[in-house]
Amino acid sequence: MRIVDVRERTVPISRYATRDVGRGGLDTTAVAVVTDVRRDGEPVVGFGFSSIGRFGQGGLIRERFAPRLVAAGEELASASGDNIDPFRAWDRMMRGEKPGGHGERCVAVGTLDMALWDAAAKIAGQPLHAFLADATGSRSSGAPVPVYAGGGYYFGADDTARLTDEVRGFLDRGHTHVKIKIGGLPLAEDLERIEAVLSLLPGADHLAVDAMNRYDPDQAVRAAHAMAPYGLRWFEDICDPLDFATHARIAELYPPPLAAGEALLSAADARNLARYGGLRADRDVLVFDPAHCYGLPGYLRIVRVMESAGWDRRAFQPHGGHLFSLHVAAALGLGGSEANPHNFQPFGGFADDAVVDGGRVRPPEAPGIGFETRSGLITLFRSLLRP
Ligand code: MG
Repeated sequence: MRIVDVRERTVPISRYATRDVGRGGLDTTAVAVVTDVRRDGEPVVGFGFSSIGRFGQGGLIRERFAPRLVAAGEELASASGDNIDPFRAWDRMMRGEKPGGHGERCVAVGTLDMALWDAAAKIAGQPLHAFLADATGSRSSGAPVPVYAGGGYYFGADDTARLTDEVRGFLDRGHTHVKIKIGGLPLAEDLERIEAVLSLLPGADHLAVDAMNRYDPDQAVRAAHAMAPYGLRWFEDICDPLDFATHARIAELYPPPLAAGEALLSAADARNLARYGGLRADRDVLVFDPAHCYGLPGYLRIVRVMESAGWDRRAFQPHGGHLFSLHVAAALGLGGSEANPHNFQPFGGFADDAVVDGGRVRPPEAPGIGFETRSGLITLFRSLLRP
């Protein structure tokens, strides 16, 4: 059981235009990890990508982490010898890496890790949620996962009309909870957007807002005071992710839930959030992205760090809005998952035929992550395998 080849390509992903990034600014790296295992005459190939929001990782993958996987040979085989062990593969990728410096290497490792889990679950003939539940001793019920629709970026022209159209579209698809962006306009205009969306929802606890880490400490305080009366579902990514003092200050003055963790990429960062961020385990939400924080071995460490600090794993709602995060939420019994129904294509979203029923969706039962259930995405992944 070995990895015989790793293919990678960095591709643009579609976010509709925002004021500070602009259309087409973002990309991600797609990878194909080719094993020496054959099924129906073809090699088993695991696919992965760098999730959404932190750019492609081709350089680190090509120069550092993929060669380690290929050089590891039989060292990656599971104890029973009949599969690749993604935990062993992770240890091999990280051999010689020093603590700290989480920067972007965590995303490069997480990208390959996603493909390794896809390959291992395919070799086992299981959907990832079941394979991962077995691997971690968790009890996956395969039950539908609560999801919320992420979107609500700034449209520029006709912003409110297009925003409310977008949210109506989410509701028409079966979503019950949504998240929109704030922090890119003067506060008064953001409050108008919030009120426009609230007019479409049954209650304020159906709307979360995401400041994308843009507020400075004073802006964060002003926004918290202004939004507290709404009682929104959560207020996410308030300020610089490492500004734990501001997190703690907002947690003291803002009673509704907060969300943090999307831009914290290691167990060490999570420990600091738990120690110094002032967050409240009885209501706040943890939006760490499994692919961005060194993949599943790193994410599982973060879950353990937060559980030892008194958090329930249902506080986790992984970022990403794609199939991988959905499987992780299903396998580990997390509180839910983001959904990206129409942005960041073809990576955002679930199976082509997925049904969102009452705000919940089931992960596909195809072996692996089930990228094969998304026609646009699997076409892109398979193109990596061409000579
Ligand atoms: Mg966010």
